[in-house]
Amino acid sequence: MFRFYLKDEHFLSSFYWNLNFGVMTISIDKVIGTDKYLLRLPNERDIDFIFSATQFPGFNDFMQWDAPDSKKIIVQNLRQTIQKWKIGTEYNFTIVNKIDENQRLGRISIRKTGKKNIWHLGYWTHPLHQGKGVMTEAVASILGFGFNTLLAKEIRSRYAIQNKASEKVLFKNGFRFLKHLERGFQKEGIWIRENELRIKRKEWSARSKSQSTDCTFCKTLIDHPHTLFENENIIAILDADPITVAHIIICPKNHITDFHLLPDEILLEIMQLAKKYVKALNKIFQPKGYSMMINGGKYNDIKHMHLHIFPRFSQKDFRWVYNEHLPKEASKFEVVKKLLEGHLS
Ligand SMILES: [Zn+2]
Repeated sequence: MFRFYLKDEHFLSSFYWNLNFGVMTISIDKVIGTDKYLLRLPNERDIDFIFSATQFPGFNDFMQWDAPDSKKIIVQNLRQTIQKWKIGTEYNFTIVNKIDENQRLGRISIRKTGKKNIWHLGYWTHPLHQGKGVMTEAVASILGFGFNTLLAKEIRSRYAIQNKASEKVLFKNGFRFLKHLERGFQKEGIWIRENELRIKRKEWSARSKSQSTDCTFCKTLIDHPHTLFENENIIAILDADPITVAHIIICPKNHITDFHLLPDEILLEIMQLAKKYVKALNKIFQPKGYSMMINGGKYNDIKHMHLHIFPRFSQKDFRWVYNEHLPKEASKFEVVKKLLEGHLS
């Protein structure tokens, strides 16, 4: 799942069993390499970077900590971070650019919980580097580290419910909803509500197997620019080559080639979402009707199950032609997305 960088080429020699505690510890030199980033133990040269992130307005709103007044507190935290690594209770990483290691992007950590073999994942991205998929990639490799190296059975994470970016990162990595916490943590005397998500080892390995590396559609779905909706199982996008205005595609996130191979629960999710969209399309465009279509087998051109939904205005438009009678504006993603959002119930 992930590559070890330089010193960690000899993966087996990079950890040893701590005989005093009977727990496995990981060398502090360990570096995890992803496609684009390196994850390594934080050091004193990261302090300015960490401090600058905390000084951005809004950055600390959904975090358990308050913005530090000075760098001194960060230095103290750094010492604790290294100590925790050494005793194997928490592994913290600074995420840096692989090409330019001086470019720091964020932090990610995995720590023990009170429950056996259940680990907790935490992370933040520097405000200057948010929205670029950094954390989605970092979380994917930390899951590999957690399940393969730390031998976790389950990994959990929490986020303040307003923190949609954080939610997205977890869903993209296959986490599922576990519970809602009315009293997540306190911030200036007010309780912040949180959601707790989790991924189990078997879900993670099933998911690793189900991601087809040959399917261009699987790759397209990651951070698709025209995403209307997504959760851990399914995603809805606006078709790039529409039959009509608001031509929507709903599909499973995992690589499932055809309709008849869909697990029933995913099928249900897809159809429930389709129903919502049909209702919304009817309200917004008042078409004469609508069509839904699934091609299978030889006629499934992209080999990744997908359901088409589109409103219909005339008998003729059941072809891949653009509707000249509709304003061009109406085909724009931002316009359609906004319309749909206003009519989903
Ligand atoms: Zn696929």
